[in-house]
Parts: sequence; C-alpha cells; structure tokens
Amino acid sequence: MKKQEIIDKQKKYLFSCVATYYDEPLVVDHAKDNYVYDAEGKEFLDFFGGILTVSVGHCNDKVTKAIHDQTDKLQHISTLYANEPQVLLAEKLAQITPGRLEKSFFTNSGTEANETAVLLAQIYTKCQDVITLRHSYSGRSYLALSLSAQSSWRLTPNVVPGVHHIPNAYCYRCPFGLTYPSCDLKCAKDVEEAIQTTTSQGRIAAFLAEPIQGVGGFITPPKEYFKEIVGIVRKHGGLFICDEVQTAWGRTGGKMFGIEHWDVEPDIMTFAKGMANGVPIGATIATPEVADSMQGSTISTFGGNPVTCTAARATVEVIEEENLVENARVMGNRLREGLDSLKQKYPVIGDVRGMGLMQGMELVGEKKRPDTESTKRLMELTKANGLLVGKGGTYGNVLRVAPPLNVNKDQIDQALKQLDRSFAQLGQ
Ligand code: PMP
Repeated sequence: MKKQEIIDKQKKYLFSCVATYYDEPLVVDHAKDNYVYDAEGKEFLDFFGGILTVSVGHCNDKVTKAIHDQTDKLQHISTLYANEPQVLLAEKLAQITPGRLEKSFFTNSGTEANETAVLLAQIYTKCQDVITLRHSYSGRSYLALSLSAQSSWRLTPNVVPGVHHIPNAYCYRCPFGLTYPSCDLKCAKDVEEAIQTTTSQGRIAAFLAEPIQGVGGFITPPKEYFKEIVGIVRKHGGLFICDEVQTAWGRTGGKMFGIEHWDVEPDIMTFAKGMANGVPIGATIATPEVADSMQGSTISTFGGNPVTCTAARATVEVIEEENLVENARVMGNRLREGLDSLKQKYPVIGDVRGMGLMQGMELVGEKKRPDTESTKRLMELTKANGLLVGKGGTYGNVLRVAPPLNVNKDQIDQALKQLDRSFAQLGQ
C-alpha cells in the first residue's frame, strides 16, 4: 500500500483518539537495529525506540531467532498449563530483581501489570486506598486511568475511588515553591499528612510510583526521595509498588532497574515495554508472602505465553551478554553532556533531566511558561532532519530522548547534531 492509502485507512477504520505524532503521521514500513524506514524508504535514527520498548535494537537477530524457534515449537497454551519458557523467565526475574521479589504473574501490557499490582496490594493489606503521584501515568484501563494524573489522558468521566494523588518531586516546578536540598524533601514528607487526612483509618494498600516519571516528562526525583517516602508509607502499612515499565532493563544506566539507584526494595514491581524488545508482555513480581496472598482463581489467556516469555528472556540475555546496562551509563553520560551543551546554546531549553538513556528536555518561554508550540515544531523539525524522539509532559512541552540500550557513540553524536540543527531552525 502507498503511504497516503495507509493514512486514509487509519482515519477510516481506527478509533480517532489513537494518538499519532506529527502533523502527518509517520508511516513506518520496516526497521533494523537503531534505524527506522518510512513507507518511502527514508531513514530515521530512532531515539525513542517505540516508546522505550525496543531495548536491543529493532528486529534484533538473537531475539528474532528465539521467537522464530519458539513459534515453531509451541506458540500458545494459556496459564492453565505449565510451560518451560514461562518458568525460566520467572526464575530469571527472581534472580535479577532487587530484594526478596520472587514470584511473577505475566500479562500483556503495563496497564495489566499495574492492575495486578494494585489488586494484589489491596488483597494483601485488606485496604483499598492507594497513593500515587501527580504527573504519573499508569495505563489505560479504568483503574489505571484513575491512577494516572495527567488530565489529557484521563478519558473516563468517573474514577475509581480510593486513589489519592500527592505532589511529585518535580524540582524544576516545585509544587511547594521550594528548592532542593533546602526543601528538606517536603514533597516526600507530605505523604504523611495525605495518609492522615485523605484515607480511611490512616491505612493504605500501597504507594505506586515510577522511579522516573516517563509520560510525565522524565521527571527525576532527588536521590533521597524514595527512601524517605517509602519509609513513611511502610509505617502506615502500605506496600511500595514500583512501576518500572519505562525505567527497567538498564535504561537508567549502571543499574538493571531504576529504583536500584536509591537503595529501596519494592514489595511489588511492574514491567512491560522494553522487556521483550517490542513483543507484548507485562509482568508483576512480588515477594512470596505478598504474591501468595492472592488466593482463589485467576487467569490470563495470553499471560505466560511461551513466545513472549522466550522473547523476554532473549532480550534480557542480550542486555547481559552485551553489557548494555553499562553501555547505557556511558552513552547516557555522552548524550547528557551534549544535551547540556544545547541548553547553554538555546534558551528555549529550560531543563535537561533524566538518567542514563532516559533524558528529557523541557521547553519553556518567559518565566518557565511551558512552550508547547515550540515542542510541536521541534518534533516536526527533528522528523525532517531524520531523527525520531518522543514528546511528553503534562503540558506537552518535554522532548523525550531515549535510544535503544545498544546505541553507540556515532549514533549519539549524530542525534546531537540533528537536535542542534533542529533547535537552530526553530529560532529562524
Ligand atoms: N506505566 C508506565 C510508567 C507507562 O509509561 C505505561 C505506558 N506508557 C504504562 C504503565 C502502561 O503500559 P501499556 O501501554 O503497555 O499498557
């Protein structure tokens, strides 16, 4: 099919709310390693990886071969039967996740992973209330939309009761008007009052948070934040659910999981996106006593699918074998240096933040006014210059730069040049 035909059919046959980037949607035909090709054969350097999902490069040979081999052997069986790829992946997760996390439940998306986590915490604690953060994103089910705290994504007119959103650690726009470190982590300490004033009997099921808020615009908390807030949450009987959907698999550089930078052990962790290099999978892992509190029957038809579990294990193996957690740290530093230089050059860049290969640039006008218009134009300019980056932030004014974990020096330098050219053109 020709490009226009695909765009026309998308408009006619898909829900019109399916959001696409760019004035004219990019029609992707194929991709290899860190490059994507459109329907007319134009090449793009991919620094967004299908939303931080293509961890080890598009159509990675090792992952693709593992998928092919497993597809020929056993493609589907459902969670009603045991299978080797599912238990091997669960064992691997138990080995590489921090603390006492040991038992997994597999699903198909981050949404389901978070649904499972909250349900589990509610069952374990016999409480309903959940605390989460403003500017968070948890998925698109009824509960996950209620957990999410960005009005533009919350399509439902009603919300699930018992979800409380507290101010996040958004240092660039501190909700308390304070400055780190003299703020004394007011945002973390505030959870105490939120529990005392907005919950039933001062007890909660869980605190759910992303180590770095992804859709929120790569908002990165101070290093002491999680230790402080999780300590208070635990005092009130709550579990800590760590949403690693964007921050896992070495993305933040130097550590396999984002939360490991801050020496906090979650009770439950959730994954999706980069876990299987683009093959749909979600996972919820918990400590044995928390996991085993969910009694009765539960089922996920596609959960624990042998092909997706095989793809996930192959992806993690590539990350380990090719030392990509370290690569993310080294390349992340190079990328960050380049972005910081761009900030010096272009006043429209108000903040550069993130860790490893998860770097955001918040675009602003006078007095930090969110510059949504320039962000939209920048997206168009980067596309014209052959670079794919993402957009995010509650105000739609954050560029998200997040290449696959196997990105190399030349690609980082190429992307920085493409960004430089795009910012220069923005000012013309
Ligand atoms: N949690 C986070 C942190 C996410 O970024 C997302 C997706 N953007 C989700 C959950 C939901 O994942 P999915 O789209 O796979 O349902």
